[in-house]
Amino acid sequence: MLCEQARSQTPICPSCIPKVDLGITRCSKCFSTTSTLNSYSVCELCNKVPTPFEKIRYLWEYDLDAVKIIRIMKYKPSASICRQVARILAESFAKEIVDDQYDFILPMPCTNSSLNKRGFNQSIILAKEISNRTKTQIKRTLLKTSSRRVAQASLAQKERIRNVRSAFYVNTDRLMNKKLLLVDDVVTTGATATSAAMCLMQAGAASVSLITLSRAQSWGGFRWSIEKKLVSVYKDRNTHRRLNESSHKI
Ligand SMILES: [Zn+2]
Ligand SMILES: [Zn+2]
Repeated sequence: MLCEQARSQTPICPSCIPKVDLGITRCSKCFSTTSTLNSYSVCELCNKVPTPFEKIRYLWEYDLDAVKIIRIMKYKPSASICRQVARILAESFAKEIVDDQYDFILPMPCTNSSLNKRGFNQSIILAKEISNRTKTQIKRTLLKTSSRRVAQASLAQKERIRNVRSAFYVNTDRLMNKKLLLVDDVVTTGATATSAAMCLMQAGAASVSLITLSRAQSWGGFRWSIEKKLVSVYKDRNTHRRLNESSHKI
């Protein structure tokens, strides 16, 4: 249980914040601690399954402690609690992010309905904090959700299906050859983040990395089905070439 202070939505007291332990040996791509690593510090799964991400970083394993905080953030949304964990996230990975020299930080856009319910986009708060801490440019509007576009319904049936499948769109060439860091609050199946990354790669990004508060352990199992499917959706040769390059470049 969380203490009274945490439940009352004032800043969460330090003892209720899950421990951050980034010192454990991890896969350099997916950040997993569970698998055996090869000589490039890449796990077995990352070796076998294509991923649109150059690397994934997360603060907490999706265990009981993390779930408590994530539930609070989900069901009793509070911008101040979000900023509090954003500072921990930014602080924990600042050095690596600076070293990686991203061109842009992109918060995961949320749908209008979840924005209306919560009143703010958690990913934007996280992304802003990382941007401030690492002096990396944040771009809030380059990656868009396609739900509104589909609702406008001026598209042919075939295009609509494609839009729903990808869920995101980019209508600018400003991401061409850019190294991107995508920020999402929590990654569960990885389907949404993967779909966003595929969209960014198709828009010409040089690479896409992902940073999130927590990533579900079960995600590894989903990778086989989801990522293979998504990668096969994009038959564009250039996208494939870049995907191959980014998955072999460690
Ligand atoms: Zn507490
Ligand atoms: Zn891995």
